[in-house]
Amino acid sequence: MRFFHTFRRGRSSGLNTERLAAVVDNQSDPLVMVAPRDKVDDEPSIVHVNPAFARLAEVNADHVAGTALWEAAPWLPRSVRADLDDLITTGRVSDRDDLAFATPSGTRNFDYEVISLPDGSAALQFTDVSDRKHAIELIRHQAFHDPLTALPNRTLFFDRLAQAMAATERDRSNVGLLLLDLDQFKEINDTLGHAYGDQILSRIGGRLGAMVRDNDTVARLGGDEFAMVVVGATEGQMREIATRAGNEVARTVELDDIAVEVSASIGGAVAPDHGSDPHVLLQRADVAMYDAKRGGLPYKLYAPDDDRESLHRLTLMGDLDDLLDGELRVWFQPKVDLRTGRAGGLEALARWQHSRMGLLGPGQFIELCDLAGVISDLTFRVLDMALAGVSDWPGQRVAVNVPVRNLYDRTLPDAISANLKKHGVAPERLLVEITESEIMEDHRTVVEVLEELHSRGIRISIDDFGTGFSSLTHLRRLPIHEIKIDQSFVGGMLDNENDYMIARSIIDLAHNLGHQVVAEGVEDTATLTLLRELGCDMGQGHLFSRPGPVGRIRLQVEAGPALDAEGALLWRSSPT
Ligand code: C2E
Ligand code: MG
Ligand code: MG
Repeated sequence: MRFFHTFRRGRSSGLNTERLAAVVDNQSDPLVMVAPRDKVDDEPSIVHVNPAFARLAEVNADHVAGTALWEAAPWLPRSVRADLDDLITTGRVSDRDDLAFATPSGTRNFDYEVISLPDGSAALQFTDVSDRKHAIELIRHQAFHDPLTALPNRTLFFDRLAQAMAATERDRSNVGLLLLDLDQFKEINDTLGHAYGDQILSRIGGRLGAMVRDNDTVARLGGDEFAMVVVGATEGQMREIATRAGNEVARTVELDDIAVEVSASIGGAVAPDHGSDPHVLLQRADVAMYDAKRGGLPYKLYAPDDDRESLHRLTLMGDLDDLLDGELRVWFQPKVDLRTGRAGGLEALARWQHSRMGLLGPGQFIELCDLAGVISDLTFRVLDMALAGVSDWPGQRVAVNVPVRNLYDRTLPDAISANLKKHGVAPERLLVEITESEIMEDHRTVVEVLEELHSRGIRISIDDFGTGFSSLTHLRRLPIHEIKIDQSFVGGMLDNENDYMIARSIIDLAHNLGHQVVAEGVEDTATLTLLRELGCDMGQGHLFSRPGPVGRIRLQVEAGPALDAEGALLWRSSPT
């Protein structure tokens, strides 16, 4: 049973302190009741504290009554006194938010409220908001920072860039923007796994973050893309910083028992010369970065000339969603068996039916898909459409171009199998075309994925053969079914001795290894005759048929063979 002091200065009491105490003692918010005061000079003295307040102030709840408030809680901020005085002078009750209190148990943040009680006494109730405040700070931090690297995120980046640009507009100086994109990071992710990929990004983020001065910003814009805002940088300084940043990225990253080397392509743009809007400036840095990547350069500063071509590319880049959301078409081109004259399968070729620019060839968008990280989406969409195209065409084989990049993905065979099943197409009817120059650096994962595809009955074709420098031994290790001679040699065979020799040796080489050979880009009958003499198995080219939608190609193929028994041409190529 607690004992309560009677009020020293009871006005009309009637206030049942004991009943009030019963209510406030159960609440978890610290609360102290202060005796009625007549004038501001009267020291506020404690009538009652609840256990939560006693704990906070480290006082004994049973013995603190009658003690001066400031004696029991000298850490209370001045505002509390002012608010209690206000109650006497103006009758106003106050509440305040988020004040820091250096309590005996450490600094905490409180909201507090002054409550006026009927007998003239007052209560102060405190609500500890430290955790909430902490949570809010955390949320705020999270909203503006990238969790992986703790660097500012895209939102904060734009904010800082805009601020820096506004400031320099006033004092007529520059703001430099560097955009860094790691090279082949997807391969790293695919081969080592995302956990390692994340660690690498975090290390590189840390290095870049440590590089710059306090008023500069290093941000992670997403994926493997970082940006630096360098206040007051000249073009020369930008180059210097870009070089240093490139070196920081290139330093070996050691993780557990592996050492990884990463490189970056860096693009730079300077405000106000290259743009006075943050988004435009970033776009320009992006153009420069893209040019650096294409040219294999570590750094490139934006040059307005780059833009003419880039503008088109950037527009297309921005429209890639439309490509994947319905503007993609798959056309087919037959491969003709040069002995029987019959179509021996089709190659699926991607086209983009662009809403404003019309029909675009893969040369205009495959690389963009790669840069934008949507190349696997494209591959699977083409695969799906290619298989749909032959699903009700009994026995028809179809070839799909698969970038080597996709072969770093061990889930590829299962995904392909699932798609074959979806369309009811036997694996033997699918051929995967891989470009020779890409496969040169054979990677364990790539070889294993190819072997897995092969073991499921899917066939592998080496595309554009002769443009890379694959050796015989190299090819021997891969489970290949077919080799396609690059059209540059086929086109040059008649006039160029070298091309002829190369085409001939590819045919011999492929046959010695037990592979079928296809000549790409057969455009005239003289070449056709020569290829037949050399024993080439198949031909593909405008001479027989240009690529086209499945309906037209099916009509042509089902109308009869492309060549008669003597090898004379029966098909007429349509102009599409
Ligand atoms: P590729 O796989 O070597 O495809 C053959 C290319 O040669 C096709 O160009 C075809 O239209 C063209 N062609 C066929 N016959 C002749 C001819 O007689 N003369 C000439 N001059 N050209 C001929 P296309 O469709 O523009 O494709 C170009 C390249 O784009 C393809 O070369 C392939 O590497 C890539 N590609 C096409 N579709 C896809 C796709 O779905 N995914 C990926 N990753 N790449 C694709
Ligand atoms: Mg191909
Ligand atoms: Mg080819």
